[in-house]
Amino acid sequence: MQGSDTIFDKILAREIPAAIVYEDDDVLAFKDIQPQAKVHVLVIPKRRAASLNDLKDQPPSNISAFLIGVSNAAEHLGLVQGGYRVVLNTGRDAGQTVFYVHAHILGGEPLGTFGS
Ligand code: 5GP
Repeated sequence: MQGSDTIFDKILAREIPAAIVYEDDDVLAFKDIQPQAKVHVLVIPKRRAASLNDLKDQPPSNISAFLIGVSNAAEHLGLVQGGYRVVLNTGRDAGQTVFYVHAHILGGEPLGTFGS
């Protein structure tokens, strides 16, 4: 879905439900509906961008706030000790399906070697 009315815009606006696991001034984190790991959470910045390509045009403080929010969400989920993976699918070849930038946090169990 492209444009400014994606499913994640609607989750942020509380127009459709999501299992929210963490929120602060900068980000909202909620469970992925099709989890690919024991813990699979999506983190979106509250200041929208369609993808990482657009996020880089925002002030650096927005970008760092997003990454700090991802880290805070992972900590809140208890993933720091065991570790976790962060994925930012960007564009068609990466399989991005929702054009509101989002970080996948995957963890809660040993993950396969990336790319294998
Ligand atoms: P992408 O491939 O764009 O990086 O990932 C989009 C993710 O959003 C997918 O993992 C998909 O399962 C998840 N997703 C799609 N629609 C919804 C929804 O309505 N609610 C939630 N919580 N996740 C969704």
